[in-house]
Amino acid sequence: MRLKTTFVLFLCLSFLSIPAVFSQAKQGRVLPSEGHKYLDTRCTDYYSRPVLHVRNDSLNDVAFSDLMRHRGVPMGPMTILNIRRLTKLSKASQLFFIAHECGHHVLGHLYFRQPGQMAEQEADCYAIRSLIRSGVFTLNDVADVQEDMRKYAQPSRMHISGEERALALIDCME
Ligand SMILES: [Zn+2]
Repeated sequence: MRLKTTFVLFLCLSFLSIPAVFSQAKQGRVLPSEGHKYLDTRCTDYYSRPVLHVRNDSLNDVAFSDLMRHRGVPMGPMTILNIRRLTKLSKASQLFFIAHECGHHVLGHLYFRQPGQMAEQEADCYAIRSLIRSGVFTLNDVADVQEDMRKYAQPSRMHISGEERALALIDCME
C-alpha cells in the first residue's frame, strides 16, 4: 500500500515537472498565419496517435518532425513549426510542408526509417497525394509549391535539389 502511494506520488511529480513544451503543445491546434486566416495542423501518426504541434521560430528549417521525450522516454509524436519562416511561403507551400511533416508521422518514419533523401521523397509524395486526393490542392497549388521549392529549397544530405524536388512532385502524382 505504501509502495503504491509512493508510486502514485512519483507519477504526479513526474507530470508536474514535464517541460513547458508539453503544456504549450496542443493536438490539432489551428495556428494563426499572417495573410491567411488559419493553418490546420491536424495529424495522427502510424499508431493513430495525435501529433502535437509546437511553434519554435528559432528552428533552422520551416518544420521538423520528432518524438517528444521526457527523461529519455518517448511521449508521443510532435511537429515543430517555424511559423515565421512558414508564413513567408505561399499558402499552398504552408499546407504542403505541414502535410509533409504529417507524412513522416503517418508513414512511421520516426520508428522504421533512417532519415535521408528516400524518407524525404516519401513524405513529399504523401503530402502532394493527400492534398490532391482530399480536394485541398489544385494543379495551381502544386505549381506554387514547385516555385517555392525552386526558390528556397537547398540540396543537402537529406534533400535533393529544389529543382529535382519540384520535378519529383509530378512523378508522385502519376
Ligand atoms: Zn521531411
